[in-house]
Amino acid sequence: MSMSDSRPVRVRFAPSPTGPLHIGGVRTALYNYLLARQLGGTMILRIEDTDQTRYVPGAEAYILESLKWVGIEIDEGPENGGPHAPYRQSERKPMYRQYAEALIEKGLAYYAFDTEEDLDAMRKRLEASKMQPAYDAVSRMGMKNSLTLGQDEVKARLESGDPYVIRIKLPRKEEVRFHDEIRGWVVVNSSTMDDKVLLKSDGMPTYHLANVVDDYLMGISHVIRGEEWLPSAPLHVMLYRYLGWEEVMPKFAHLPLLLKPEGNGKLSKRDGDRLGFPVFPLQWTDPKSGETSSGYRESGYFPEAVANMLALLGWHPSDNRELFSMAELIEAFSLEKVSKSGAKFDVNKAHWFNQQYLSNTSDEQLMEVVWAQFQELYGNDIDREYALKVLALLREKFQFAKDIAPAAHFFYGRPASYDEAAIAKKWKEDTNASLLGLAEAFAAASASDAEGFEACFRAACEALGKKTGELMQPMRIALSGEAMGPPIFELLALLGAAEVVDRLKLAAEKISA
Ligand code: GLU
Repeated sequence: MSMSDSRPVRVRFAPSPTGPLHIGGVRTALYNYLLARQLGGTMILRIEDTDQTRYVPGAEAYILESLKWVGIEIDEGPENGGPHAPYRQSERKPMYRQYAEALIEKGLAYYAFDTEEDLDAMRKRLEASKMQPAYDAVSRMGMKNSLTLGQDEVKARLESGDPYVIRIKLPRKEEVRFHDEIRGWVVVNSSTMDDKVLLKSDGMPTYHLANVVDDYLMGISHVIRGEEWLPSAPLHVMLYRYLGWEEVMPKFAHLPLLLKPEGNGKLSKRDGDRLGFPVFPLQWTDPKSGETSSGYRESGYFPEAVANMLALLGWHPSDNRELFSMAELIEAFSLEKVSKSGAKFDVNKAHWFNQQYLSNTSDEQLMEVVWAQFQELYGNDIDREYALKVLALLREKFQFAKDIAPAAHFFYGRPASYDEAAIAKKWKEDTNASLLGLAEAFAAASASDAEGFEACFRAACEALGKKTGELMQPMRIALSGEAMGPPIFELLALLGAAEVVDRLKLAAEKISA
């Protein structure tokens, strides 16, 4: 990308609201955003909803919320408006027809009146003679369109309201070339392309027409989108040429696919829940089937970790660094370093990223993330200072912030049960008696910190004639119900002597060896 380009940098993310935004779509939005911010450009969100049959309620709101969650800011879009509003294609419907008609005027497009049956018959005919079953420069001359019907008939059909579409008229054999910022030169012969519909019979533009017209009208400088749109690019290039907009044609960059963790193939909606990771940024419940797919947010990922991980799926910084804040990504990102080949999704790496972000947050920052969950689980009136101490004790073992609060239950109440397997292993005839001995010792001493409790425990073990190792686990189980947990004397200190004494007595009463 040359910085000397005088054109203002304007990029767009142009999703269709046909369902939840896939994590690959979030990556596309992210790359657009990084480039926009790096080059002082504008990030546009355009909702491509011309295919009313695929419209899914809630999908647009989901897209907006996902982008916000990941930290992608939109400068112009349906929510915040902008100089090219509206940013929803269905609301721009009246704008597109004139361009399709202008092409007809120039002899570069035509009306086609073929019915479904006509089209079917054409496909069958061509398939039977081993030809490409396409409506193209060859087959169009055998169809019902304004190239084959007389002028009068065309006029009559239009006047009587016969349904029609407008198709682009492609040259029979011509090279279509364009430069892709990631793939280099792409060359396609028009003989392999078909006369795509530009305007549908309901008067709506197709994706191709609306996309190109809007990119032009909105002054888009770079089209950065997924590889699945590469086959459409030659047609878009032809549209720029036909409409006389070649001079301002955006630069194209087609991003590599996100692949399944195992083997090849595009990462699909079903892979996530099958392999234990989300493929959607936020949880999504399908409005029709009621089926719920998990999201990164609800699975406890930090949005910063997700943005960082996504940026590196397909883009390689010049050094081997892996941790980047959004500001650092903006500085380091470049389209030249986006790879051509697909990027394999790696679940362990996703966990790793999250853990990095988790361990880099301060206790206070982490508390911000989990406080609502603590309150939900343990009551709105719980003490924040105490919760902060609990969090500091527990956090080390976790990859996900959301797992911390549920693991804190024994700081907020006595064990409802005790780990049976651990009891079977650790309890002896006299273990309960020893626990009562410990209770007595803690009651008599006035320990308040971890060191104090440890000293008291050691002295008590000696007095009871027990090794510390023999009573350590039973004491933990008595206090927490669990065989594993935070550093034991810190746990005692946080519970406080009175509670410790009560829990030891309770365990001695409830647990039978
Ligand atoms: N509406 C297309 C999509 O859903 C946009 C493709 C493009 O960016 O041109 O991804």
